Order: sequence, then C-alpha cells, then structure tokens
Amino acid sequence: MNASWLPYGRQWIDDSDIEAVTAVLRGDWLTTGPAVAEFEAAIQAAVGAPAVSVTSGTAALHAAYAGLGLGPGDEVITTPMTFIATASAAAMTGARIKFADISPDTANIDPAAVEPLLSSRTAVIAGVDYAGHPMDVDALRVLTERVGAVLLEDAAHSIGGSYQGRPVGSLADITTFSFFPSKNLTSAEGGAVVATQPDLLAEIRRFARIGRNLNRDELRHSDEGEWWYEMSSFGLNYRLPDVLCALGISQLKRLSTFVERRRELVAAYNELLSGLPDLTLPTQRDGVSPAWHLYAVRVRNGRRREAFEKLRAAGIGVQVNYIPVYWHPVFADSGYRRGMCPVAEKFYAEQLSLPLYPAMSEADQLRVVEALTTVLV
Ligand SMILES: *Cc1c(COP(=O)(O)O)cnc(C)c1O
Repeated sequence: MNASWLPYGRQWIDDSDIEAVTAVLRGDWLTTGPAVAEFEAAIQAAVGAPAVSVTSGTAALHAAYAGLGLGPGDEVITTPMTFIATASAAAMTGARIKFADISPDTANIDPAAVEPLLSSRTAVIAGVDYAGHPMDVDALRVLTERVGAVLLEDAAHSIGGSYQGRPVGSLADITTFSFFPSKNLTSAEGGAVVATQPDLLAEIRRFARIGRNLNRDELRHSDEGEWWYEMSSFGLNYRLPDVLCALGISQLKRLSTFVERRRELVAAYNELLSGLPDLTLPTQRDGVSPAWHLYAVRVRNGRRREAFEKLRAAGIGVQVNYIPVYWHPVFADSGYRRGMCPVAEKFYAEQLSLPLYPAMSEADQLRVVEALTTVLV
C-alpha cells in the first residue's frame, strides 16, 4: 500500500495567507512594523484581553513568568501532563516547581491535588487546557485567591474555546498561546501572552521587548532628545516579526472555521470509535466548549504500544501527549521521583493522539478508524 502519511496535526494554509505574507515581504517593515499591533489587536478581539505577541508558546510562558518577577523562593504549581515549557520556563527563573496530579477525565490539573501543595510561597498556579478542553477555572480561582497567587492558563491547545460562555483568554490572570503549525492556528513559529490586568501585561511586554521602558512618562531623564530611551530591567528579544504577524492575522480570520471543523471531526471520531474494546474516548464536561487540538484516546490493558506501532506502520502519524514532565532527566536529576502523580502516569501509559487537523478529509479519518479497529478488534 502506498497511502500518504497522515500527521497527528498540521497547518491549513490557503491563498489568502500567502497573499498576506507576500504583501508584507514587499513592504517596508519586516519586523517592528504595523502588523505587530494589528495582530495583537486581532488577538484581543478574539480572546477578550489585551495581548503581547512573542516568538513561540515557550517564549510566551517565559515572558509571563519573568514578567511576574518570579525567582528563587517562589513556588509554581503546575501539571505534569503538558509540553515541558509550562514547567521549564518557570524553573528557569529560579522558582521551585511542584507538580499536582490530573483529573482522569480531562487530563487537566486537578484542583483537589493542587490544594495540599499550596503554601505562602505559591506565586502561580499554572494549568493547561489539555487537548483544547478548558481547565477547571472556577475551582482553581478559589485556590489562587486563598494564597494570593496568580492564575496562569497555558492555552497552547485551546484558542477559540470557551468556559461558562467566556472565551479562553479572558478567564485566568495570564493566558499564553502557541502558534506552532500543529496548533489551532499558526504563524509558523509564534505565540502570545494576554493578561486581564494592564499593569501585569506591561511588565510582560517589557521583558519580551528586551527590558525597554515603553512608557515615555516614566523615563528617568526625559529632558534628553528624541533619541533617548531607557532599559529599566533585563529582558529578551521575543519580538514576533511582521512577516509572521501577517500570517497570524490572516489565520485568525479563519479561527472559527478551524475550530468548527475540529469539532465536526471529533464528533465523527466519537461516533465511529464508540464501542471498540480497550478504548476510552475523550470526555467533555458540562459548561465548556473545547477548541479540540488533540483527539486523545486511551488504549487500555497494556495495548497502547501495539496500537502506536501498528498505526505508525500503516502510515498514520499517531503521537503520545505527553511524557510526564518530571520523568525528563532535567527534572528527574534534581530529585523528582516517578510515582509522584499516579493519575498522570497511568494516563500517559494509555494515551494516544489520533490525527486531527481541519484540512483532514473524511476519507483520511475513515482510514484512521479502520486501522485502529483492525488493531483492537
Ligand atoms: C506547543 C506547546 C507549548 C510550546 O509552544 P511552542 O510554540 O512550541 O514553543 C507550550 N505548552 C503546551 C501545552 C504546548 O502544547
């Protein structure tokens, strides 16, 4: 058989995206131009809070934690069922990372597991909207308020989703996004941070703009000439160039189409795969409207590896999301032990992401369903 490779996720680029990017390439500004503010305004319009664009989801997390001024002595409580950046970007500030176990239905951080980890040093509770299903915002908010911590939502999977009728981005104090090609929309590489409090966003923006004080009213020596600017803290250059902002602006116009198509595909998978042995399908809680990024099933009874290998051999690019973060040597070598979050470890042992992306055809999806059925029945 010579069927094409089906990835677990991929971008959907059309002619309008290509035109948007080439228009910027022909113009005056490749970076630091007008497309940057335009992209940030478009993100704000879509998610309900002001935005700073950055070069990746990892940069978004790093800018968020650094902008908060985290450092040694602070603690960040987060989930092990995520891409490592949710935790590693915080660890790089010198803060201590505590991993809370997940809820078995959504694989999102479990507020009941967070509670015993709270302390007077808790600076941030950082959850992830795993697979695009929003985290348990209301229960986590009760906990951040108890200790005066910041609520951060890593929404790399979930732009376009909502919780109790409110869009992802307007829920937590700080929300981060990734625009990597496999995510719900892409700018090639890229990301954004949004914050509901303007002063918090200003600090994050300053870090992501090399520490430059962007408020002329605050300059220490404002009587110098027009050339004068001041660096008031240390930061990094996380600027997203106009070329990529143009792609992001163009993609954002189709976000609702992408999210709708993902929902259709998820509904079809749920129907086509129901009743298969040794298979648990994703669940959706009441009151949430996920923007499904992953179609994450669980293959029970020790059969995940067999399913992974046979599907890959059939040209189906299944993936495992994720290896528990603290199993990686960088955490294991500093004392994090296996067994710490048993629900997450069991979830990992069974998890399999099936191909899900808006340009996927019905025929592609049926190929995945037939291949998985052949393995399990
Ligand atoms: C993709 C992803 C990131 C990192 O985003 P990049 O743009 O790849 O740096 C962070 N957290 C989660 C949950 C992700 O899926």
